[in-house]
Amino acid sequence: MTAANENLLSTPVADGAVCAPEVLMPPWVGADPFEGYGPGASMGDTIPVGSPRQGAIPDEYRNASAEELDARIEAAKATLGDRVVVLGHYYQRDEIVKHADFLGDSFQLARAAKTKPEAEAIVFCGVHFMAETADILSNPEQAVILPNLGAGCSMADMADEASVEACWAQLTNLFGTDVDGEGRQPVIPVTYMNSSAALKAFCGRNGGIVCTSSNAKAVLEWAFERGQRVLFFPDQHLGRNTAKAMGISPDDMPLWNPAKPLGGNEEQALRDSRVILWHGFCSVHRRFNVGQIEQARAEHPDVQVIVHPECPMPVVDAADAAGSTDLIRRVIEAAPAGAVFAVGTEVTMVQRMAEQHPDKTIFCLDPVVCPCSTMYRIHPGYLAWVLERLVAGEVVNQISVDRDIARDATVALERMLAAVPA
Ligand code: SF4
Repeated sequence: MTAANENLLSTPVADGAVCAPEVLMPPWVGADPFEGYGPGASMGDTIPVGSPRQGAIPDEYRNASAEELDARIEAAKATLGDRVVVLGHYYQRDEIVKHADFLGDSFQLARAAKTKPEAEAIVFCGVHFMAETADILSNPEQAVILPNLGAGCSMADMADEASVEACWAQLTNLFGTDVDGEGRQPVIPVTYMNSSAALKAFCGRNGGIVCTSSNAKAVLEWAFERGQRVLFFPDQHLGRNTAKAMGISPDDMPLWNPAKPLGGNEEQALRDSRVILWHGFCSVHRRFNVGQIEQARAEHPDVQVIVHPECPMPVVDAADAAGSTDLIRRVIEAAPAGAVFAVGTEVTMVQRMAEQHPDKTIFCLDPVVCPCSTMYRIHPGYLAWVLERLVAGEVVNQISVDRDIARDATVALERMLAAVPA
């Protein structure tokens, strides 16, 4: 490896123990830097049409050593002072996290941005939909910057506005728009935070709401008070796991495949449904399986298995607990010394927790190291570049949500905050 390539994967791995060789390389190696989005989250997902494109960054950033990039990032931050705030998602690599002013999940970070109204620029080390949400929630004068425009989210991209509008038209045609005797509309759209601003706006316009992995149950309760059924997108697993925990049978949750008429369903199945699940998933969390849990239990009789609700239903059912990224972090922090955890979420975060709690045994359920490759696109070279451009007075990679979309998306976000005060 060259100096620029070393230490690119925070985690030491044995040869062949990664899910895809590109996660060992910097984002610009092995691909045309103008090609943009890349392979999605580790698993070769189709590149969505119209996905953001990242141009080449100067060689000085690509060729710099890790130490040089560290020093340049620190110097730029020191020069900018309160003019900039750097936000880091839990799934970001350690080389980025150490420069973050705030560390958190997507919604925690969007809210953190609001606590720094004096900052002219918010550098969001996460993925595209998170930067959009930060732009919606921050002051109009603040610029939200995504260091690498190729850092998308393959799950978010599985539900695009046109497909959801087409689904909505079919459902409206089937159910009409009349409310029932209890004043409930036929369908309430609910979008996971991991979705484009356009889909949050769609929910805002159509009586719907946004949810996170930590408040999905309360949001679904809100939706069922107002609707006979829910259209949940883009993550089928969060929708299914949450609704099942509320006592809804998986049989009453048909899957909507946007490539097929009526999503591939019979009319009656849709009429009988309580939750219509979009055909989306997280490539990272879909890797977890029940066999991994059985192996963890066989090797560690005292193990507690805790997984993210983006995992498939059999995995959540077989685990001891399921919850958001932040809940997983808090459970592990609160556990006594000697506790053993097998964790079903993004490996970068799991391994950071293992380092932070050497008195506990913490390991990822998946023995293959498979970070979210789009999160991983935020390399220190890009962070140094955007910060030094700010020092020079230039805003690059700004994420700006159209004001009409932002207005409607805010309606759906505010419904969430009213339903589930944070
Ligand atoms: S871990 Fe999954 S849901 Fe999260 S950003 Fe990566 S692809 Fe998207």
